[in-house]
Amino acid sequence: MANKPERVFISIDMEGISSVVDWTHVDMNHAEYGYYRKMMAGDLNAAIEGALAAGAKEIVVSDSHGGMRNLPPEDVHEAAYLIRGSPKPDGMMEGIEDGHYDAVMFVGYHSMAGTERGILAHTIAGSTVDAVIINGRETGEFGMNAALAGWHGVPSVFLAGDAAACAEAESFVPEITTAPVKWAVGRNSAKCLHPNKSRALIKQKAKEALEDIGKVSPHWVNEPVEVKMRWVNPAMADIVCVLPYMDRVDGKTTRCTFDDYPSALRGLRASISIAGTAERR
Ligand SMILES: [Zn+2]
Repeated sequence: MANKPERVFISIDMEGISSVVDWTHVDMNHAEYGYYRKMMAGDLNAAIEGALAAGAKEIVVSDSHGGMRNLPPEDVHEAAYLIRGSPKPDGMMEGIEDGHYDAVMFVGYHSMAGTERGILAHTIAGSTVDAVIINGRETGEFGMNAALAGWHGVPSVFLAGDAAACAEAESFVPEITTAPVKWAVGRNSAKCLHPNKSRALIKQKAKEALEDIGKVSPHWVNEPVEVKMRWVNPAMADIVCVLPYMDRVDGKTTRCTFDDYPSALRGLRASISIAGTAERR
């Protein structure tokens, strides 16, 4: 691992972006979305500016929310490459690879399904997934994606999002640097920093994180990997058991095991896609 962070990968979601508190803010079919996709670019550019200030020479951004084409390309800092559109094999982490990146940063991230005082808390798909339990530990999107980065040898050094997402990230990677931009009152309400203040915080903390990447080890999940999924209703568990690698545990719970972590992550994401077909049963 280089001591100087020359190549930086950024995965950016939307629910943890500054001032976002409601699904209408992150739904491209809603009038308010246009405002918040600009806010998304604002948080992102603050992180990019922090990375540049720390000496980064190559920055690749993976747009990771919904259809993964939220960031207006002209609003993104021109120093960065932008990976957009879906589906993609590695989803929110598309583009991560062995031996290329020095650090991963997460922007706009939210907490896992069921979190108290977590703005728009969910795990990949709120309508189908009640919990994802990897090797016995309930895991949200940060933990899953940090483990994929870790499998490729890349440390997860920074996260910006609501206070609950920051606390969750610290529980998986204690040395991570975080930038909390809002504090939930409830699932759909929060006390928010002014966007100018949150951008200043993100820029400063991202810079500090990258200047001290040596303190963070890549986050690692032991292999083989056991993935238990608890679904919102039994029809979802019924239909995911069509997958040849899936076993039933109980009414709403399924279980599968994989030799390596990247396969586990793809396997669980495939099951979530299939569960979505049972949403209205
Ligand atoms: Zn999202």
